[in-house]
Amino acid sequence: MLNDQHVIIVGGGIIGCMTAFYLAKAKVSVTIVERDAVGSQASGGAAGLLTPYWAPVDKTLADFSGENLRLHADLHKELPEYTNIDYHYGVIPFLRLAFSETDEQSLSKWYADRSKDGLSVEWLSGKTAQQMSSWIGRNVQSAILSTIEPQVDAYPLTMAIAQASEYHGAKIISAEVTNITTAGSSITGVCLHDGRELSADSVVLAMGPWSHFLKPWIGFHIPVKPQRGQILYLDSPHKHPEYALIHNDSYILPKLSGRLFAGTTWEDAGFSNNTTQQGQEQIIKNALYMSPLSQEVSVMSSSACLRPLSEDNYPFIGQLPSWDNLYIAAGHGPEGILLSPATGKYLSEIIMNKSSAYDISPFSPNRLAL
Ligand SMILES: Cc1cc2nc3c(=O)[nH]c(=O)nc-3n(C[C@H](O)[C@H](O)[C@H](O)COP(=O)(O)OP(=O)(O)OC[C@H]3O[C@@H](n4cnc5c(N)ncnc54)[C@H](O)[C@@H]3O)c2cc1C
Repeated sequence: MLNDQHVIIVGGGIIGCMTAFYLAKAKVSVTIVERDAVGSQASGGAAGLLTPYWAPVDKTLADFSGENLRLHADLHKELPEYTNIDYHYGVIPFLRLAFSETDEQSLSKWYADRSKDGLSVEWLSGKTAQQMSSWIGRNVQSAILSTIEPQVDAYPLTMAIAQASEYHGAKIISAEVTNITTAGSSITGVCLHDGRELSADSVVLAMGPWSHFLKPWIGFHIPVKPQRGQILYLDSPHKHPEYALIHNDSYILPKLSGRLFAGTTWEDAGFSNNTTQQGQEQIIKNALYMSPLSQEVSVMSSSACLRPLSEDNYPFIGQLPSWDNLYIAAGHGPEGILLSPATGKYLSEIIMNKSSAYDISPFSPNRLAL
């Protein structure tokens, strides 16, 4: 075992912080280098849904999601030992709404898949759904009630994991990494924007969508690109809905912290992470489609950040080909908050050269055709 090594993690999003946490807990010396602030990008701006059922997933991703849900539940019990940050982990039931035959067809498929897995989901008539919440529009045709999907507040979760890492000895440095330093196929450390060099026995690149720019450092392209998502934070004269309301890719999302979110957009806008009038109008339009009460909400604030999308929808987790001690954890797309604990835990075991109870080889960067 190489537990006396020093590991540098580039990027202080949820993925970098989780990896730091599991390494530091195993007594490995870790430094996170973050150029903005911990959780300042998508990891702080995410909706915080821990749902594996957002988009259709194959068995490998479904199993990985299940493992992550298990680890999130464990973390929620464990983290109070190291931090008093409350990130509002818990379940608010979901109502997935159908307003047309096409909606019903896609919900039927969703319902059949979950029922087959023995999960607790219930098909409701439009009338029953409407009686359950005054937020739901009269024209709803049917709905699925689901109580299987927890949620968190993403920014406090990221901060809690960062604090827990520090509790176990991890250090967090504010600096931009501008390159790696190498000796043959080995990494010896990283260069910082101010000319300093930090030495390391291993380096983890957890740079979210900015992994796109890694070619000059590592010699090949990582197929990860940004997708902008905007969220509105609402105030309403009415009691918040008791259910998270979902229609297609849109949601009105009450949080256990008492906040109310509406989202989101799925935009190809390069690396621009500013909010736009058009994005805001789209979210409000979708919210109005689900709920006439949305007409009376006011927008308190809004945010925009970048999902790190990988080309094949699988994250990259593991050692980079052609390099001895260089690792990547990136490309978690719309589910990086959900997928973060198992990414951190099982990547840390690879770095420590430990045998692992869970096989993450399907996510290995070896699938890159170099
Ligand atoms: C609107 C929206 C809603 C979302 N909702 C959910 C959800 O409900 N559930 C869910 O599971 N996921 C959700 N996601 C996805 C999730 O936010 C991301 O998958 C996840 O945050 C990615 O984490 P990360 O650590 O890889 O990236 P990031 O959070 O982007 O962190 C990468 C970090 O690396 C730093 N960095 C980059 N380059 C350098 C450098 N050279 N030197 C130093 N630091 C560097 C950046 O500053 C950044 O802080 C959502 C995303 C969006 C946009």
